[in-house]
Amino acid sequence: MSDNVILIRFGELYLKGKNKDYFENILKDNIRNKLADLDCKLYFGRGRYVVKQYPQAIESTIVSRLKQVFGVHSVSVAHRCGYEMDEIAALAAELTPDRGSFRVTAHRSYKKYPLDSLQINMQLGERILQAKPQLTVDLHKPDYTLYVDVREDGDVYLYDRTERCSGGMPYGTGGKGLLLLSGGIDSPVAGYMLAKRGMSITALHFHSYPYTSQAAKEKAVKLARILGEYCPSIKLMCVSLTEIQETIHKQCKPNYMITLVRRFMMRIAQEVAKRNSCGCIINGESLGQVASQTLESITVTNAVVDMPVFRPLIGMDKDEIIEIAQKIGSFETSIEPFEDCCTVFLPEFPLIKPTVEKVEEQESRITDYNELIEKALENIELIEL
Ligand code: ATP
Ligand code: MG
Repeated sequence: MSDNVILIRFGELYLKGKNKDYFENILKDNIRNKLADLDCKLYFGRGRYVVKQYPQAIESTIVSRLKQVFGVHSVSVAHRCGYEMDEIAALAAELTPDRGSFRVTAHRSYKKYPLDSLQINMQLGERILQAKPQLTVDLHKPDYTLYVDVREDGDVYLYDRTERCSGGMPYGTGGKGLLLLSGGIDSPVAGYMLAKRGMSITALHFHSYPYTSQAAKEKAVKLARILGEYCPSIKLMCVSLTEIQETIHKQCKPNYMITLVRRFMMRIAQEVAKRNSCGCIINGESLGQVASQTLESITVTNAVVDMPVFRPLIGMDKDEIIEIAQKIGSFETSIEPFEDCCTVFLPEFPLIKPTVEKVEEQESRITDYNELIEKALENIELIEL
């Protein structure tokens, strides 16, 4: 067993006011579940949580897992010792590097400790200098800062590094949303961004089998699993658009293909959202990225639904989106070369500025519109993740 502990900090922002317990309880559950299969113990104190009693070999695994829990803002691996000044000083001297300048920054949450934080800083500073006289103290720009945390439970924690984590709000505190998950780069990032604000994610993937391959669908499954690292018990559903696309292809003007397909997608999505108690639809659209993401196109596709549609990437550049995709681990899967259903029957000149009137006129040529949607919904597939 390691004598180290891992300190978990969460943001103060949402913990103010009457909802504090609600948010904290969900955060605690999420941390507990995330570490459930690991050999460690969790302690939940006021303002800070601690992971203790784990084998040294799994320390980095615990830290990586915590980085996937929204609501955790930072963690520090700390060395643990008792209240005895000799013991603290010996550990402090051992941790402080042999060269350069340093400072000690103590925090005393155990208010009955005989020394206050200033006295701890000074005494430890002196003791470190005794052990390593070549060092200098620099309170303003030290090469090394040793943090000392005197806790109520008889423990003192010493650490020198804080790692930023995901931040955000505890998963499950922000309502439920239906994510339109393609196999591309953008939609997993869109899901991640709203999950980060606490929203529970259910994913919906459209395919056009056999025009799109089984591998293309597998890719969406892989992406949902990656999102699952952040979104506990995420669900994935798949719907076939094949018959809808064939019908549009036969009955409508070619350049309306994408716009019409997207309106079908949105209608189906809204129905799936309602059936799964999701209050909104989430997609990965970014303004102007492709023809279907101009203001006019978005207006026309948005017109068929009445629930909120969240587009967290709307103002982001592709390279900014890619940066997040790399950070969350979805990028490598997203760039696997499998076709998306939107590329089936792709017209040479897709509409860039569709209007609702003209699109409705095209749609009116599809006589069995509602039946097509019903049939797609009947054949919806829930994927085992
Ligand atoms: P992405 O990288 O997410 O695939 P994109 O840049 O390819 O996005 P579009 O193909 O126009 O852009 O899709 C815009 C959004 O529509 C996607 O981000 C996604 O939310 C949704 N979408 C597109 N294709 C599908 C699909 N096959 N299944 C589910 N949702 C889809
Ligand atoms: Mg795509």
